[in-house]
Amino acid sequence: MLEPRDLTRRGEQLAGAEEADEAVGKRTAGALRMNALPQTSEVVVIGGGVAGVSTAYYLAMAGVPVVLCEKGVIAGEQSSRNWGWIRKQGRDPRELPAIILALRLWEKIAHELTENIGWTKDGIAYVAETDAELARFERWLPHAREHQLDTRLLSPVETDALLRQGKQRFKGALFTPSDARADPRRAVAALARAAEALGASIHEKSAVRSLETEAGKVAGVLTEHGPVACRAVVLAAGAWSALFLRHLGFELPQLKVKASVQRTGMAPLITESAVGASRAAFGRRQDGGYTIARSGAVTFDITPAALRHFRAFLPALKEKWGDLKLRVGRRFVDELTTSASWKADRPTPFERTRVLDPVPDHKGLDQVMRDAVDLFPQLDGVRPVERWAGMIDVTPDEIPVLGGVDGMPGLLVATGFSGHGFGIGPAAGYLMAQLAVGETPAVDLHPFRFARFAEGDVTRLPET
Ligand SMILES: Cc1cc2nc3c(=O)[nH]c(=O)nc-3n(C[C@H](O)[C@H](O)[C@H](O)COP(=O)(O)OP(=O)(O)OC[C@H]3O[C@@H](n4cnc5c(N)ncnc54)[C@H](O)[C@@H]3O)c2cc1C
Repeated sequence: MLEPRDLTRRGEQLAGAEEADEAVGKRTAGALRMNALPQTSEVVVIGGGVAGVSTAYYLAMAGVPVVLCEKGVIAGEQSSRNWGWIRKQGRDPRELPAIILALRLWEKIAHELTENIGWTKDGIAYVAETDAELARFERWLPHAREHQLDTRLLSPVETDALLRQGKQRFKGALFTPSDARADPRRAVAALARAAEALGASIHEKSAVRSLETEAGKVAGVLTEHGPVACRAVVLAAGAWSALFLRHLGFELPQLKVKASVQRTGMAPLITESAVGASRAAFGRRQDGGYTIARSGAVTFDITPAALRHFRAFLPALKEKWGDLKLRVGRRFVDELTTSASWKADRPTPFERTRVLDPVPDHKGLDQVMRDAVDLFPQLDGVRPVERWAGMIDVTPDEIPVLGGVDGMPGLLVATGFSGHGFGIGPAAGYLMAQLAVGETPAVDLHPFRFARFAEGDVTRLPET
């Protein structure tokens, strides 16, 4: 069997780069046993990102037989490429119960696992350069109060103290001391190993090509290595979920946008809290450098799916217009020639792209680095040593789909996390595990139902 290590291209190392503990190109769960795929199970999970792996972890913990199939490597796509922020702050209020649950689960995971997942609970701050930003932060505070969160506004002097600065250049900050981070390059792969130790059967380089049904219900999956019979399937395929669902005859409005990130070499300590400004955000890494990027700075390819769902995404496009880089490029042709109808006995698009590994936007990242130095002068002279990018899957209302699919009993979907699914991931997995065994979910999933798109109940709330 091909070593999973061979499947990913290295993250782009820049001149003078030293090795990180877990370089981007080593996104693999490593010591997984790679047993033969079982022919039957209770539940099959499609996708080895944070949502799928967490589902397998909680099912295995409950003693439920579960098989997880990942087309490439565990956490090869979004789940190892993100910033690692686990935040309640600034969330769409509909997600707050789930992210509150997720933070509790992350903390438990950090203690349950024997491996270092880079867990730190040092808070997250959004700093305001303008009065308008500060007013926007203030408008979010009632949600914090409703859920008894420790979120508060910092004065300019308190913001300076947090950032070890002295010029009161910020109008203030929104700060949640109990928000946290984990290291995406370690956490999900470590969770997959823990799930396997609990009895989950986890398989890399194992694309699921289609579903098998009996009497209109899910009866199993067809993988590139053969069928697996099961009672329930959890589709947690990230940016690929819409294609898989389309193949089954269901339309999920989901688009992909590219977001780029860089890490620096060793740098002076500004604060252990993660800090976001509108022009640049940073999080201190355990290797003494920073992960630096900009929220919302994304490249949006105009594709056939984008044209199909243009109306649904129009409000989001309007709000983010200034930040978007629009492109008509190779992806238009790629998608146009990627039909959602295929035969399950032949290789599918999932095997043709084992790991989505887009090229980072170097020009954009150069600007982010300049802005970061301007905002946080302690970064002067600090250089980026590695850059990478990921394809974020977005829904029109920027909240995920969590739950069943009308017309396909036994199929559950956990996808569309819209750029903030790393944090909420363990809760998504826990809730999917509950649904898969017929339990009432710990959180009301009505706002996340798949049917909302067909019902036209798609409300996008303004960003914080
Ligand atoms: C640059 C960047 C920064 C981000 N920052 C943050 C952050 O700070 N905090 C936060 O909460 N979120 C953040 N996110 C978002 C977060 O990473 C995602 O929302 C989350 O990782 C999504 O997890 P997932 O399991 O749904 O999907 P993924 O991690 O994309 O996993 C889906 C998996 O399914 C597999 N798959 C697809 N189809 C098939 C098939 N047919 N058969 C088998 N396998 C299949 C894929 O190969 C993939 O590995 C960021 C994302 C990016 C790109």
